[in-house]
Amino acid sequence: MSDIIKILPIDVSNKIAAGEVVQRPSSVLKELIENSIDADSTKIQVIIKDAGKNLIQVIDNGKGMSKNDMHLSFVKHATSKIVKIEDVFSISSMGFRGEALASIASVSMVEMESVNKKENGNYIEIQGGELVSEKESNIQEGTSIKIKSIFYNVPARRAFLKSDFVELRHILDVFHRLAISHPKIEFSFINNEEEIFYLKPQSLNKRIISIFGEKIRENLIPINESTQIANISGYVLKPEFSKKSRNNQFIFVNSRYIKSQFISHSISSSYEGLLKDGYHPGYFLFIDIDPSKIDVNVHPNKTEIKFDDDQNLYSIINSSVKHCLGIYQVSPVLDFEKNPSMDISYNQIKSQPVNPSIEINSDFNPFEIFNDSEPKKVHEDFSDFNKDLELEVGDNKHSKIFQILNKFIISTNKSSLIIINQNLAHQRILYESFLKSIFDNTINSQKLIFPIELKLSKKQLLLYDKINDDFNSIGFDISIKKDLMIVKSVPYGIEKSDVEEVVENMLNEDFNISNDLSTSDFFAKRLSKITSIKSGQKLNLDEQEYIVNHLFSCKEPNLSPDNKQIFITLSKNDIEKKFNG
Ligand code: ADP
Ligand code: MG
Repeated sequence: MSDIIKILPIDVSNKIAAGEVVQRPSSVLKELIENSIDADSTKIQVIIKDAGKNLIQVIDNGKGMSKNDMHLSFVKHATSKIVKIEDVFSISSMGFRGEALASIASVSMVEMESVNKKENGNYIEIQGGELVSEKESNIQEGTSIKIKSIFYNVPARRAFLKSDFVELRHILDVFHRLAISHPKIEFSFINNEEEIFYLKPQSLNKRIISIFGEKIRENLIPINESTQIANISGYVLKPEFSKKSRNNQFIFVNSRYIKSQFISHSISSSYEGLLKDGYHPGYFLFIDIDPSKIDVNVHPNKTEIKFDDDQNLYSIINSSVKHCLGIYQVSPVLDFEKNPSMDISYNQIKSQPVNPSIEINSDFNPFEIFNDSEPKKVHEDFSDFNKDLELEVGDNKHSKIFQILNKFIISTNKSSLIIINQNLAHQRILYESFLKSIFDNTINSQKLIFPIELKLSKKQLLLYDKINDDFNSIGFDISIKKDLMIVKSVPYGIEKSDVEEVVENMLNEDFNISNDLSTSDFFAKRLSKITSIKSGQKLNLDEQEYIVNHLFSCKEPNLSPDNKQIFITLSKNDIEKKFNG
């Protein structure tokens, strides 16, 4: 039998390597900016067209390359950054594998211009890894590299790219991470001919504010801790600024953005007791550590990292974060917010013991959506009450319905006990009502006497642009002035004090935009999650009844918008079985 093993041709192996390095336009941008940083640039300009699908250009004022180096830079394992194997263990530059440009060039059309101090400038053009032309160039400083038509020769991968919106978000993530970790470098970012960012050289806190907006300023708590193992610096965000998403979490090791579960865990546990359930702290944490004590070569994208001494690092980070939260005295204030479902709530400890009678707080009604002017209408709309359950709520309030553990509502029908998860039930109720508003154009809106003004980040503005129809149809009246969102009306049921949180959570990174129908659905789901009554919230009888009645008027009372079971029933048989073994 003849031999069957062959060495892959270089263009094939480069394309395979490209799969690791070049996942999408944002990964190309990351490699290019890192190269500019490694070339000691003080000014980096990024130009993007069509979310990077048709152009990713990076122009720098770094040290540039000779003509020969320009050619070599596209050869695999060609790097100026390491010479011998020991260098790998003490690496401080961003790149060092020498495969980024080779990989990128194998799946795109590249034009590069560069000049170094000793030579005139040069231009080369490469397509699918092959040199197609070269000439002199009159470029004055540094390097300009254009990546055109990414994956033009790998149609399957090009087809796999997500919408411009999603790809642009990835690109902005990459840009943010690099701009934050290099505040002394001037950056600009132009997307489809519009300048989205101009960041002058500045201090870290100014850089963070320039990117995330003025609002973040007063929430930045500096952190600074030097130890033998590592130096920790940067900012953590006040617990009040915590978010339901993890978007504001940035960890940099030796100026390189990384992801690390154990570091995130270490920081989050420092915030224990300070955050509301389901909220995550924000931070910009810089860890400086002897490069020989880490291995960055774990993953081709180098966002994962291994530390020699991770247990000690865990405790150092944990105590430094606790320390700076303590100094800024955020801890005592926030004990109020300790999740009441975990133990006795702070309010209960403070207040006098009261008889456990049923209390009806007539002033408090979080269900304004069905109150006042609109109640009849909504009840009629949902009049298809689920008869099978034969709920007997209402006729004998005091015995038929009650809440336990601040989490479940217990109700009965003729032969069963029903245990309802209050949070999931309310999500279902709100979800159906929001969808109804969206699809029937029945707007349930309340005008705010004082409009609320919120400053939006660039990313949020982009997203708002895509989903403003959903905001309107659900009852928001919003106008945009530059980067300011002015909210004039909100849907019934949304408290004025919640508006900011709702907007923050709706205009969030992970908002999934695929097609119109599922966007509205996603919008309604998310809004219902944000505005629903949470576990841990004590409900008065009216509220409990409201949940039960409206749940069983829903089209799908069994499942939450995320398909979780909303209630369980224990039949007479089930109960009797328990007793008879
Ligand atoms: P690596 O960064 O891992 O060395 P790359 O493939 O990204 O590998 O780049 C190969 C080489 O090309 C670099 O080592 C560097 O010498 C040179 N190079 C790439 N981009 C630039 C740039 N913007 N300015 C100067 N030199 C560059
Ligand atoms: Mg590189």
